[in-house]
Amino acid sequence: MKNPKIVVLGAGYGGLMTVKHLEKKLGSHQAEIILVNKNDYHYETTWLHEASAGTLGPDRVRYDISSVIDRNKVELIKAVALEVKTEENKVILDNGELDYDYLVIALGAEPETFGIKGLKEYALSITNVNAARKIREHIEYQFALYHSEAEKREERLTIVVGGAGFTGIEFLGELVNRIPKLCKEYDIDQKQVRIVCVEAAPMVLPGFDPELVQYATALLESKGVEFRIGTAIKEATPDGIIIGVGEDETEEIKASTVIWAAGVRGNSIIEASGFENMRGRVKVNLDLRAPGHDNVFIIGDCALIINEEANRPYPPTAQIAMQHGEVCAQNIANLVAGSTDLNTFVFDDKGSVCSLGESDAIGIVFGKKVKGKTASFMKKAVDNRALFMIGGPSLVFKKGKFKFF
Ligand code: FAD
Ligand code: NAD
Repeated sequence: MKNPKIVVLGAGYGGLMTVKHLEKKLGSHQAEIILVNKNDYHYETTWLHEASAGTLGPDRVRYDISSVIDRNKVELIKAVALEVKTEENKVILDNGELDYDYLVIALGAEPETFGIKGLKEYALSITNVNAARKIREHIEYQFALYHSEAEKREERLTIVVGGAGFTGIEFLGELVNRIPKLCKEYDIDQKQVRIVCVEAAPMVLPGFDPELVQYATALLESKGVEFRIGTAIKEATPDGIIIGVGEDETEEIKASTVIWAAGVRGNSIIEASGFENMRGRVKVNLDLRAPGHDNVFIIGDCALIINEEANRPYPPTAQIAMQHGEVCAQNIANLVAGSTDLNTFVFDDKGSVCSLGESDAIGIVFGKKVKGKTASFMKKAVDNRALFMIGGPSLVFKKGKFKFF
């Protein structure tokens, strides 16, 4: 009898964890495992704010997928997945198609623009290695242009960050450390640089511990960030952004750089493939299968699971995506072994840490508040742990973060 074919789409946190656990649980005589990814490298999505601000080189945040998978057990296909045809158990790729017995969709997130005019055209988002390179280069180019203009335009050196969620704040933490170096390199008086963070909610990091938020806000303000809180971006234009002020007034902030970090939605392939979804995320069963599809697992940022205690979805994080990967691999191994007894996903929340540049951070870890250097140490330990779980000690040695103090 032919071995079952397991196709995993996406080599991010969820996809790679699934594959690593499948490698352990299934031999090549038991199943054919195929991993499909857009690139032949994995990137640490959780480090992309560093590559975008230019505090970490793009090569530091990525590694070859082949270096962490067992090529005797897993076939790697470099391709872009375009659509899943569930009735035919088939995936359409940009360079062909693949049939499957079991499918795992782990394709991550895309920026959520909420239909706001001009964002797709005029704003940049921290989404992958190429986007990060583009942001870094774009900012540097504005600094380079500043002196060559006959009339120096202030907005050349104005950077707007839309959204003060974790992504916006982590990016700002890196940016404020990079700006003094850029100013020195391009002979610019730092007073000419303006960094504005626009947040629609009434506070920075909505829902996070107020004392820690106060610490983060004060630190970023001391390094030059202006916060516009309770203010929504209404439109992006070639000249900057339009924000809402008061009842129905608007104000323009002229800026040559607009970074949109105001939320994510699931990969567009979810909608293209006809899965019932909310903002590109499928409300999966607790065994991580898509409702009505017994051989399709959806994990990571494409999956939506309700936190019953809080009565709202768990936020899409790498921590959850990795835990999904473990449960998903176990459930597939069970199905391959002929068992219908599947494990239920239960989130083991270890907390969250938000970096504020290389040596500062805030967080709640195992229920305890941490800030400053201790939190920054924890953040690096979390980053190294993710490397360890996928590539073992050699990957930590190659890519890990060891500058603790
Ligand atoms: P990803 O890890 O994003 O992987 C998706 C993979 O699919 C990628 O390899 C991509 O190239 C590939 N892919 C996408 N589309 C296609 C396609 N059509 N065809 C083929 N391949 C495709 N979470 C935390 O828990 N802690 C943090 O500290 C943290 N920091 C973050 C910092 C930033 C700047 C950002 C943006 C996010 C952060 N997150 C953090 C959230 C976290 O990164 C995501 O929740 C996590 O990456 C989701 O994992 P995933 O496996 O679903 O997707
Ligand atoms: P988010 O949804 O967490 O935050 C987006 C922010 O943008 C919100 O505060 C929202 O009020 C604001 N916003 C929305 N529309 C706006 C508008 N029109 N104008 C101004 N502000 C607007 O999104 P994120 O920060 O990209 O995070 C995505 C996911 O990744 C989350 O689950 C987050 O927890 C996770 N993440 C975690 C870490 C970490 O643990 N260190 C780091 C980055 C991201």
